[in-house]
Amino acid sequence: MSGFNFDVITLLPKAFELINNLGVITRAINKNLIDVNLHDLREYGEGSYRQVDDKPYGGGAGMVLKPEPIYKAYESIRKLPKSKTLLMTPQGKVLKQMDLARWSTLDQIIIICGQYEGFDERVRCLADEEISIGDYVLTGGEIPAISIINGLTRLLPNTLGDPDSLVNESHNSSLLEYPQYTRPQVFRDMKVPDVLISGNHKEIEFWRKEQMFKRTFKNRQDLIKRDFCGLQSDEYDGDDWLWDL
Ligand code: SAM
Repeated sequence: MSGFNFDVITLLPKAFELINNLGVITRAINKNLIDVNLHDLREYGEGSYRQVDDKPYGGGAGMVLKPEPIYKAYESIRKLPKSKTLLMTPQGKVLKQMDLARWSTLDQIIIICGQYEGFDERVRCLADEEISIGDYVLTGGEIPAISIINGLTRLLPNTLGDPDSLVNESHNSSLLEYPQYTRPQVFRDMKVPDVLISGNHKEIEFWRKEQMFKRTFKNRQDLIKRDFCGLQSDEYDGDDWLWDL
């Protein structure tokens, strides 16, 4: 073992083939900065059919993952000193960038992926945290797990070409990132703002901060701190200049 360890309990290990084609993540695996260990739930299934699911007590639609295979898979994983177990569930706390940053100081994340109608309630006892990737329901926990592996890996040392990429990013603070442009200067009548080609770094910084505020106000008012600039967000009409350098 080397680097940061992800141990994933899943009924669909093939879904993780995606991480072998994910640029930064694939390079992190190749450079031994992360290990992604897949634990196929089916191997821990019961009887000759390797059964992992059953009907819910009390009736209802669909099948539920049984507790025994998940516990067996979990107990087969070697735990590192700084380890946390995450349960993928739409009922969990919604994933935030600061969760990824918090976990990036660990040695290991164990991720349990649900399928079908979910898992037996007793599986929750294994989890340190229950995590949702948003207020919608997917068919399984594999895409949420890949999101966590992806988002966390890029926060680890030596994974990004330029670690400065992390500095001014959306969700690093309560403001979203400013608009970015590259060549050409004019594309289909859409011009790069003059300030960005002015060479005046102070004005560029000023413009970017203004844009960060405007963009956040337009798309994500919920991110703006209530005491931002001493105003409640509903007192701001979005046009005035509010950023105090
Ligand atoms: N019946 C469950 C409920 O209402 O809460 C939903 C089960 S969902 C179809 C199957 C599995 O997909 C879940 O056990 C979970 O592992 C995963 N899943 C679905 N949506 C998710 C989300 N938004 N975040 C994290 N995991 C999710």
